[in-house]
Amino acid sequence: MHIFAIANQKGGVGKTTTAVNLAAALAANGQRTLLVDLDPQGNATMGAGVDKRQLEASVYQVLLQLATLDRARVSSPTGKFDVLPANRDLAGAEVELVDLDLREMRLKAALAAHRADYDFVLIDCPPSLSMLTLNGLCAAHGVIIPMQCEYYALEGLSDLVNTIKKVHANLNRDLKIIGLLRVMFDPRSTLSNQVSAQLEQHFGDKVFKTLVPRNVRLAEAPSYGIPGVLFDKAAKGAQAYMAFALEMIERVNSWKETT
Ligand code: ADP
Ligand code: MG
Repeated sequence: MHIFAIANQKGGVGKTTTAVNLAAALAANGQRTLLVDLDPQGNATMGAGVDKRQLEASVYQVLLQLATLDRARVSSPTGKFDVLPANRDLAGAEVELVDLDLREMRLKAALAAHRADYDFVLIDCPPSLSMLTLNGLCAAHGVIIPMQCEYYALEGLSDLVNTIKKVHANLNRDLKIIGLLRVMFDPRSTLSNQVSAQLEQHFGDKVFKTLVPRNVRLAEAPSYGIPGVLFDKAAKGAQAYMAFALEMIERVNSWKETT
């Protein structure tokens, strides 16, 4: 089971879009996949076709050990993957976890019991470096960082990289940055191309080969509760996330060969 956190403390950079579409694309390729929604906004939950207002249990209860993962998970009615859903309740978890033992390790502990159930677990993190994101980073083997190729893209990246380094040093020796994913890319923009080239220069093979273009079909899909990769398979955005899933599967297989 490979666990990846999809993180960037900036909002609106494509974390949820990446989490939902990668989950659906991995599942479409036969990978047993769980999507964990760690954002109280519940956008990944809704994007996967699960109604966040009608949950029997959610990731909130799992983090507070009021429900098991087995009870809280649901299967996406539109994709072939499972969802550990979230809603507004999760906003309270931040405060309620503070005084509890091993508060950063709650998600990790919940997933440990289900190691045999999934090939991939994707964790959609909230736009902050909070206790929730910390739970995501402590549970994960790697981080996928979606980024827009704009002037301020690199600003703030150092905060995230420093947090990942600290978590690696103190809480989770397994954690590494898997890669930066360029999203909402506009191939006609000179700036996009410049920033993209800069990222490749600085981060080398930590930059994924796949480029996800700006594509309106990806933005429309969530209002139907259907992952973009299934909503309009022929759209450029859908094809990019399908290619990204294959790139991830290839990565993971290359680790198996070397270990
Ligand atoms: P985050 O989870 O980082 O806040 P989202 O995935 O919710 O970001 O994306 C922010 C907004 O941008 C959403 O409205 C989403 O539909 C839109 N969006 C994300 N990726 C793309 C894309 N490749 N093309 C067009 N719109 C996108
Ligand atoms: Mg989001």
